[in-house]
Amino acid sequence: MRVLKFGGSSLADAERFLRVADIAVNTHGQSQVALVLSAPAKVTNHLVALVEQTSRGMDASSTLFEINGIFSRLLAGLKAAYPALDDKALQARLTAELDQVERLMQGIRLLGLCPDNVQARILSRGENLSIAFMHELLRVRGVELGSIVPEQLLVTDGGYLEAHVDIEASRLRFAAHGLRSDCLYLMPGFTGGSDKGETVLLGRNGSDYSAAVLAACVDAECCEIWTDVEGCYNCDPRLVPDAYLLKTLSYKEAMELSYFGAKVLHPKTIAPVAQFHIPCLIKNSFNPQGPGTLIGVDQGDDDLKVKAISDLSGMCMFNVSGPGMKGMVGMAGRIFSAVSRAGVSIVLITQSSSEYSVSFCIHSYDSDKTRKVLEREFELEFKNQLLDPLEIMTDLAIISLIGDGMRTSKGMAARFFTSLAQASINIVAIAQGSSERSISAVVRDRKVAEAIKACHQNFFGSQQFIDLFVVGVGGVGAALVDQIARQQPVLAEQGTGLRVVGIANSRQMAVNKDGLSLANWREQLVEARDSFSLEAVKKLVEESHLINPVIVDCTSSEAVAVQYADFLAAGFHVVTPNKKANTGSLDYYKALRRTARQTRRKFLYETNVGAGLPVIENLQNLIKAGDKLRAFDGVLSGSLSFIFGKLDEGMAFSEATGIARGNGFTEPDPRDDLNGMDVARKLLILARESGMALELSDVEVEQALPPGFDVSGDVAAFMARLPEADGWFRDQFALAQSEGKVLRYVGSIEGGKCKVAIKAVGADEPLFKVKDGENALAFFSTYYQPIPLVLRGYGAGTEVTAAGVFADVLRTQNWKQEL
Ligand code: ADP
Ligand code: ASP
Ligand code: MG
Repeated sequence: MRVLKFGGSSLADAERFLRVADIAVNTHGQSQVALVLSAPAKVTNHLVALVEQTSRGMDASSTLFEINGIFSRLLAGLKAAYPALDDKALQARLTAELDQVERLMQGIRLLGLCPDNVQARILSRGENLSIAFMHELLRVRGVELGSIVPEQLLVTDGGYLEAHVDIEASRLRFAAHGLRSDCLYLMPGFTGGSDKGETVLLGRNGSDYSAAVLAACVDAECCEIWTDVEGCYNCDPRLVPDAYLLKTLSYKEAMELSYFGAKVLHPKTIAPVAQFHIPCLIKNSFNPQGPGTLIGVDQGDDDLKVKAISDLSGMCMFNVSGPGMKGMVGMAGRIFSAVSRAGVSIVLITQSSSEYSVSFCIHSYDSDKTRKVLEREFELEFKNQLLDPLEIMTDLAIISLIGDGMRTSKGMAARFFTSLAQASINIVAIAQGSSERSISAVVRDRKVAEAIKACHQNFFGSQQFIDLFVVGVGGVGAALVDQIARQQPVLAEQGTGLRVVGIANSRQMAVNKDGLSLANWREQLVEARDSFSLEAVKKLVEESHLINPVIVDCTSSEAVAVQYADFLAAGFHVVTPNKKANTGSLDYYKALRRTARQTRRKFLYETNVGAGLPVIENLQNLIKAGDKLRAFDGVLSGSLSFIFGKLDEGMAFSEATGIARGNGFTEPDPRDDLNGMDVARKLLILARESGMALELSDVEVEQALPPGFDVSGDVAAFMARLPEADGWFRDQFALAQSEGKVLRYVGSIEGGKCKVAIKAVGADEPLFKVKDGENALAFFSTYYQPIPLVLRGYGAGTEVTAAGVFADVLRTQNWKQEL
């Protein structure tokens, strides 16, 4: 015999009901079938609500009406497909059942509570009606039918609501009862019988368990759980869209998986089928041809060490601690016996090695009961302060890694906890089953989606997302977005999902949690209604459970730069070419690094100096390796490199500046380059990276103009006045030339001092040939002397700077793929 169980999702409407009947009839053609049915989707939830509302004295008639609606629509749909259906009889049955529920509700209203036996009676109506409808449908289709009545055949203990089936006793009943071999049998799920033959429930979602115990009782050849997904996935497919289907699972893996929350199987399902070695198949009723997942093999066909990741929400954690715990024999025993007496099942336990505390997780709905029994059990200890007041943490979830292969491999726990840390998730408690088949971490409930995604990315190498908010879309920002648009498909092929989820200018912000389509981002920004704020982007990240969010600041705004510490604290990586933050106060400079370390986020600013040239990281690596900066000389400004280079060719200073400005090499107002402040900021950043505790005001700046040159007026007036500087420059240049030197605008560090000034540079110096907009940085260090380390190349320009920012963005992706 094959036992086929169909869940509520497979029975939600007439179309699905008919599909289930088809599958049952087809299978019955091949072997004998017993069909176990749930209530149609939502019905049990409505019945639970109805009991609750009535117990609290509320009017539940609209809930009853909803239930009536579900079955009435089902009936109409079935009748339309099979006109021979006896709809009158079914309608009468529906009315009778609901009338009875109404009568029971009157009793509840009078009592002000609902006794468990009445509740079991009411909640089981959905399954009973499912069976009545399927019975009629299959009868009309000419199938010979038999009924299995759980109240008579499934012997249980454990009360009315969470009963456990005694399989040995039930097998004897089945053996005595006998089943005909020519019938297709029908059995309502979710229910069994008390010793008096009353209806008892097997717990919410218990129809899977019903099927498993039936399979065990009749020595079925197979137990098939038909649901609305292709089988068992390696994690909840609702949280991870690229979760993949598991072909096989061992009984033990399936047991851990369901125990730790995979809703596709009720936790009690596996034990009975495992006991009798019955293969269990999970199938999709929407795609009967699909392979599904086979549970019951000893060795899976893939050698994955971690098979799956599950999540169990709605947990709370009790912590029992106090001086009385230390060295006292039997404390743990008393705690767990008390909890067990209250009928509460403990999901996870941890104990601190100092024995000072015992913590355990239970379902939140058991919290009150548990608190009461513990307070009663340890009344004296609490009174004498041998125990501290009970600590109860709520809104928790358990994330578990599951896989038989974990027993023999190392480093799984490390990778698990690192994944959670990388997603900024705080771990409340951890536990490893002694079977080593599962490792669990307790986390905040609201972080479940992030936790599952992070682990899935890390263990299964699924696509890893980087989610960007680009603030400032002038030259560099716009070029960056366009570069990303071009590169997205290539990165996607390599497993990196680079998404721009927000683009903002100073007024508006366009957002899309799945990533903006970048082909027309400019138009989207024009039409956008939101505007950028930390609160706004934080909300989006939280709601969309993004685990690697990055704020890219492409403005030159101080107002944005002062928020970096808040961005980092809120869990964002920060990437920027904007120099304002790194040249703010030294305190802020340090605070940024501290916050980044604490929140394990990255603050990356490679383009602060030398645009696309690899300056900062190289310098940092040298310093980390123990090198020390002795001195530094650099041409750090592309525009001034161009202007001073032109002097070599005999061009007048004003003409060179005019050309540089005309070509867009300078800022719109060239005084912003000539005043030397941009170079001073870059120099300060290099100095700070080298460990020097300096402020911007400590940098001595001589502007790239004759001393005392009048810089007043608007840009046009200034440019008109500029030829007055030509003579001075010509003289300076001639003087330099007489010594075989050229003029360069140089940032230098020497003897702990930073200075920016025009300098005459000899032919044997690294900066002599640096012109045409090129940058050059000469680091004289303990390791690099007397010949310095020189980094040279084009150090300005929108495209190279954007490419440098792009590279930083990719460096935020720090997952290691080792499998
Ligand atoms: P049924 O109504 O058939 O009993 P359930 O809703 O109880 O169906 O269980 C199926 C659902 O379980 C799926 O729709 C899926 O969203 C969810 N689910 C959670 N974890 C997993 C998993 N690891 N594999 C498959 N489905 C899962
Ligand atoms: N109908 C019951 C419930 O929703 C049992 C089941 O569907 O498995 O809990
Ligand atoms: Mg289910």
